[in-house]
Amino acid sequence: MASDSRTPRFPRLRRWARCVAIFFLVFGVLLVGRFFYAFRDRTGGYSLNLDIVPSVAATASGGLRVGFGRVDITPVLTNASRPVWLAGFSQNRAATGVHDPLQVNATVIEDGSTRVGIAVLDSIGFFYDDVIEVRRACQEELKLSYVIVCSTHNHSTPDLMGLWGPNPWTSGIDPDYRKRVIQSAARAFKDAVGSLQPALVSLHEIKTPPDGLVADTRKPQVFDSDLRLMLFRSTTGTEVLGSIVGWGNHPETPWSRNTDITADFPGVLREALENGIIHSNRVVLPGLGGTHVFVNGAVGGLMTTHPSTTVTDPFLGTEHKKPSHEKTQALGHQLARRILDRVSLSKDPGTNRAPIQVHARTVHFPIENKGFLLATFLGILDRGHSKWMHMKSEVAVLRVGEASIACVPGEIYPEIVNGGVERAPGGDFDIEPVEVPPVRELLPGRVKFLFGLANDEVGYIVPRSEWDEKAPYLYGAKGAPYGEVNSVGPQTAPLLHAVLKTLSDLSR
Ligand SMILES: [Zn+2]
Repeated sequence: MASDSRTPRFPRLRRWARCVAIFFLVFGVLLVGRFFYAFRDRTGGYSLNLDIVPSVAATASGGLRVGFGRVDITPVLTNASRPVWLAGFSQNRAATGVHDPLQVNATVIEDGSTRVGIAVLDSIGFFYDDVIEVRRACQEELKLSYVIVCSTHNHSTPDLMGLWGPNPWTSGIDPDYRKRVIQSAARAFKDAVGSLQPALVSLHEIKTPPDGLVADTRKPQVFDSDLRLMLFRSTTGTEVLGSIVGWGNHPETPWSRNTDITADFPGVLREALENGIIHSNRVVLPGLGGTHVFVNGAVGGLMTTHPSTTVTDPFLGTEHKKPSHEKTQALGHQLARRILDRVSLSKDPGTNRAPIQVHARTVHFPIENKGFLLATFLGILDRGHSKWMHMKSEVAVLRVGEASIACVPGEIYPEIVNGGVERAPGGDFDIEPVEVPPVRELLPGRVKFLFGLANDEVGYIVPRSEWDEKAPYLYGAKGAPYGEVNSVGPQTAPLLHAVLKTLSDLSR
């Protein structure tokens, strides 16, 4: 009897088992499908292996020409149903006003045969896929041999990376704004090409101690605080056409409670170099005219004008510790004063012989950061992956006459660039420094620029011998240091350094 009563249950159980199996099968297929979709290559196998050596003509005779372009990318805040999510710091930070405009600033430099475009966005970061879109939109038409798109890494600008939406599960990117930025960069290049004219270039390196300007929140204390300037004049030497200024610091001066859109100290610096420094309707230091482009340097590990940093206004004498727009202005004027003083004292009119050399490579960084993988799977980090668990990016070394430029696709720790990588006590690997010699020793030329967040933003680039996620912690600290959470992984810095070495050797 007992077996009779049990017998009819088997078909039901089998049906259940079949349903559960089908559910898991469909779920599994969807999961795998989502995985492949999220980690697909967005750029159709785009890869760059570019080597441009100076032509005989460019080497023999001076034929330098330069042009500048500027396009406004200030977001529109009037749409109440679509907040502008500010990038950096924390999620759910909607912009409430515009303090000063955001821009994309472009320079095009050519030596008679090679034409290079450099655009810098007032933005937190711009992924490699986006840069490739800019290239596809304008490179061929404008006959640009190589295109660089950098971000100033500004923390008071709309999210262009997806990490700072209303909550951790929603991207903060407005696709229309992203499209506008891509089109604006292409437009800035077009304007720069349209304004190309014969020019002289002079190079300046201004020793700038970090005190009162920028702090380092992680040991070892190494900065990228020297100012570097590539100044372009008309061939008569009388008119300043513009410049590229390099310096390393996070533009986050108004700090985390600010909800105003602002270009931060790069905006103040550009304005001061062009139109001078004005207080109470009086010009206290005249500007140079022209168009000036700020490019950020080595900002990792972590370069910041922290709320504990007091910045003194160089003209008013006022001291600013609490984050504010006034503190930002004081910082921008500190930098501008040093540059304006140097230019006014310099007797070097520059040269119109500046042969251009380019060596660029697509690279594939192994992704070991589980948070990055999850964010990609969820669609928060929307960027292409060319190989299994690898992030596609790009590294380059250029020469423009006696200047060299290392293009680094993220936030590199300054000790990798300027020296001082340590076998940090408590580090996870307990190894001698891998990223040696420092990048500025590898680079050829007289004045060595480092463009950070160039053509990508892969996050922090941490020396392997300073990598620390597990106890014991660095230098006897009670907890893990900040940085690794925003890094692709401990293999990033060694790989990047090796590629920079290869490209620097090719540039000699
Ligand atoms: Zn940063």
